[in-house]
Amino acid sequence: MAVVAAAAELALLAYGDQVAGCTRCALAEARTQVVFGAGSPTAELMFVGEAPGFHEDKNGVPFVGAAGKLLSKLLDGIGLSRDDVYICNTVKCRPPGNRNPLPEELEACETHLFRQIEIIQPRLVATLGNFATKLLSGKPAGITQVHGREQQVVLGGRPVTLYPIFHPAAALYTPRMLQVLEDDFRRIPELLGLEPAPAAPEPVAPVAVPPPAAPVEQPLQLGLF
Ligand code: SF4
Repeated sequence: MAVVAAAAELALLAYGDQVAGCTRCALAEARTQVVFGAGSPTAELMFVGEAPGFHEDKNGVPFVGAAGKLLSKLLDGIGLSRDDVYICNTVKCRPPGNRNPLPEELEACETHLFRQIEIIQPRLVATLGNFATKLLSGKPAGITQVHGREQQVVLGGRPVTLYPIFHPAAALYTPRMLQVLEDDFRRIPELLGLEPAPAAPEPVAPVAVPPPAAPVEQPLQLGLF
């Protein structure tokens, strides 16, 4: 097992180095850096979000802003940490102004995502929001219709359970979404074959959206629903 983990870590590092110089689409022009992904190279649970935002572009790490803090709290609520999972996005470079990724950008970057899945070999892939859900399910149904309902798909040449969830950013702007997110997260241990999460977990404290400061952070993508 240690040999498998070391091989996956090396493969992921090597691929990350390769992607760091990617200029396959126009998003390369305005990025500070490629935000490849972070977490365990042998994670059984992988999260795929939409695109890096302001903070991710500056730090080179996915989900480090307010939505990332909420994701960490939701993970904590089911007894997992960020080190237990792998987190990345459908596109690895920040779209200017945090606009939605364009179809040609999603298409250009999907090879990187599929290679990550191939290396990590997760059993469960949780898609956060519309873009990741549509891309990885191969179906047009949006997140509002399919969240919280697992699907069986083949990714990276292997059968994988796909589990669509709302993007945590949705709960920052629409507080009632927090309960929906918590309910959907509570099923993750069951889908991983682990002990079920407590029936009444500690409520997740809302994460405050920081007031704009210079330089002004652009709004998060609107394709969250
Ligand atoms: Fe390459 Fe993806 Fe960045 Fe486009 S978004 S330049 S395909 S890493």
